[in-house]
Amino acid sequence: MIVTDKFGRPLQDLRISVTDRCNFRCTYCMPKEIFGRDYPFLPKNDLLSFEEIERLAKAFVQLGVKKIRLTGGEPLLRRNLPDLIGKLSVIDGLEDIGLTTNATLLEKMASDLKDAGLKRINVSLDALDNQLFQSINDSGINTEKVLRGIDKAVEIGLEVKVNMVVKKGMNEVEIVPMARFFKDKGVTLRYIEFMDVGKTNGWDFSKVITKKQIFNELSREFELEPIDPDYIGEVAKRYRYIGTDTEVGFITSVSESFCSTCTRARIAADGKLYTCLFASKGFDFKELLRSGVNDDEVIKQIIALWNNRTDRYSDERTEESAKNKDRIEMSYIGG
Ligand code: SAM
Ligand code: SF4
Ligand code: SF4
Repeated sequence: MIVTDKFGRPLQDLRISVTDRCNFRCTYCMPKEIFGRDYPFLPKNDLLSFEEIERLAKAFVQLGVKKIRLTGGEPLLRRNLPDLIGKLSVIDGLEDIGLTTNATLLEKMASDLKDAGLKRINVSLDALDNQLFQSINDSGINTEKVLRGIDKAVEIGLEVKVNMVVKKGMNEVEIVPMARFFKDKGVTLRYIEFMDVGKTNGWDFSKVITKKQIFNELSREFELEPIDPDYIGEVAKRYRYIGTDTEVGFITSVSESFCSTCTRARIAADGKLYTCLFASKGFDFKELLRSGVNDDEVIKQIIALWNNRTDRYSDERTEESAKNKDRIEMSYIGG
């Protein structure tokens, strides 16, 4: 069944946040001044259980969702995550399960995740230089650990992409070193423009480094050719290093928005459904599920929400709209 929104965009993919907690405090996502020791993360009982996630996932797949990505907070901190992946991987009609992670626990967990049915993994890494890396995420963890996680995932046959958020004054010096490093490894690197998600990361236009600026910098050292998107709604603008099979991509949420092809729903760790990354209000599916409704009611509710969707925040972003701070946090909704 195909369900479309007010602009005709089909519901095709789903991100599920499995926890709002993280062992990093990336300045652009969970600044340590706000997400300190006393920050009130969700209590365990407020998280969707694996059974509840599975039930929702099945409903979404019936409505046309083919891809699910698990995220967080840091998803690998959710206990027994491979059990959830095992439950999702046998859903009839679901073609792809991915995961986005900071990879600090990946070396240890990669094989269990793959055995459970995970196919693809996106690792977030913003710098190779250890000191810079630690100053961005305040974790005290070495990049070596992340790189070992990436190597392990590649070695066991997971498809790996690396995501790097680029922010002015934070890590632009790493644009070319990261490209060199991952080109040599044959791993796709994707540059993400710094976004105004949430209300805590001090975003403004002047801190954004655009795809065009990054591309120009790369072009001084590498020859790149564009690649056509694999499917409608593919978020990254993809290129190939000429003469190789290795790709590099750009997620241009700020400089070239892609709302017209946005087919993604997001479920936060507490079961609220959001139809846009920049939303302020979500629909509480945890409450609905725990009220004892049957699956038809759940499906009816998803259809009603998607049919009424009119989101196109990035298409309309202005300095003024970005100042409206009534928005959910990235660590809660999961990117
Ligand atoms: N903890 C995991 C990780 O970092 O991969 C998963 C959750 S994280 C919220 C998902 C993605 O959002 C990461 O790739 C992260 O770099 C990205 N992200 C977080 N805040 C961002 C921002 N303000 N602008 C752009 N990307 C951001
Ligand atoms: Fe944690 Fe990921 Fe946010 Fe960094 S981007 S603070 S790793 S949730
Ligand atoms: Fe989709 Fe909202 Fe992002 Fe536009 S701003 S691409 S509607 S999530």
